[in-house]
Amino acid sequence: MPSTEIDVDSLRNGDRRTLARAITLTESSRADDRLAAGRLLDDILPFSGDSIRLAVSGTPGVGKSTFIESFGLKAIERGHRLAVLSIDPTSARTGGSILGDKTRMPELSRSDAAFVRPSPSGGHLGGVGRRTREAILVCEAAGHDIVIVETVGVGQSETTASEMTDHFLLLLAPGGGDDLQGIKRGIMELADIVAVNKSDGELLDLANHTVADHRAALHLVRPKWPDLPTEVRAVSARTGSGIVELLDLILERDRILEDRGWKAEQRRRQAVAAFRSDVESGLVRRAFGSREANSRMERLEQAVADGEQSAASAAAAWLSKLD
Ligand code: GDP
Repeated sequence: MPSTEIDVDSLRNGDRRTLARAITLTESSRADDRLAAGRLLDDILPFSGDSIRLAVSGTPGVGKSTFIESFGLKAIERGHRLAVLSIDPTSARTGGSILGDKTRMPELSRSDAAFVRPSPSGGHLGGVGRRTREAILVCEAAGHDIVIVETVGVGQSETTASEMTDHFLLLLAPGGGDDLQGIKRGIMELADIVAVNKSDGELLDLANHTVADHRAALHLVRPKWPDLPTEVRAVSARTGSGIVELLDLILERDRILEDRGWKAEQRRRQAVAAFRSDVESGLVRRAFGSREANSRMERLEQAVADGEQSAASAAAAWLSKLD
């Protein structure tokens, strides 16, 4: 059996090594692995999809890993099987990983009912998005019925996460109520639920104010679903306060989306968008695949930079040589 062959039965029986190997296969960009991954994903398609896909987003230090650990353990107590995947936009400038390499979620990682996948490093965001989308399907086929996609609060990765999940949970720290403009407002529009973490001890008062501020501010943001307003809750990942209630809220909202047919509809849209995005990145890879195309690009870039040719005519000239 070639090393890329994945046994679907052992995957479905929850064999962790098979699950890890299947995800590694989807992360590979080698052409033969892409074909094998495509076959695997086709084979498991009938056994995937039966889950709640939840994006969890927040800036570094807000308490994402503490929260996911606490939330995940509560979900497991209720009989759920959890998977945690990460979109970690490796910093293009430093090459460093934002989520970091420290051991995160140690208890969850030890649980048989959870699968925590360290984030793939490197690659541009589009590639990371594709890999995570495929990993979701693989985890679902392995019987994980809550799949968390964790992401750092830095813009594009939020949008990527929201395009592959059913629900979007934004974690905030107490305070900072005055920066509800700009970037944060964009993220608020993606959120189904805003949870103010660290609502405990000395931070409790400030946290309650933050909850009130965001409830007020959300009136200015277009709700994602009609009749299903964005919820703002106070939680503490450290003490566990509000965590079970948050789990109940997500389960309830998931039931509502399902009953109204919105969950299926959103997933159909997401699958089609994923297909288009894969085709587009494949076309780009192919177009830039040859040395000749690249050197023509360099020559034209030079001409544009030197003001000898307009960007429009250089682009038209480059494109006209593609078959
Ligand atoms: P991440 O970078 O978003 O994954 O954040 P971490 O989960 O690593 O947490 C960052 C810091 O905040 C750590 O020192 C945690 O102990 C602390 N922290 C996380 N959740 C809570 C909470 O609910 N209350 C308090 N007081 N501290 C918390």
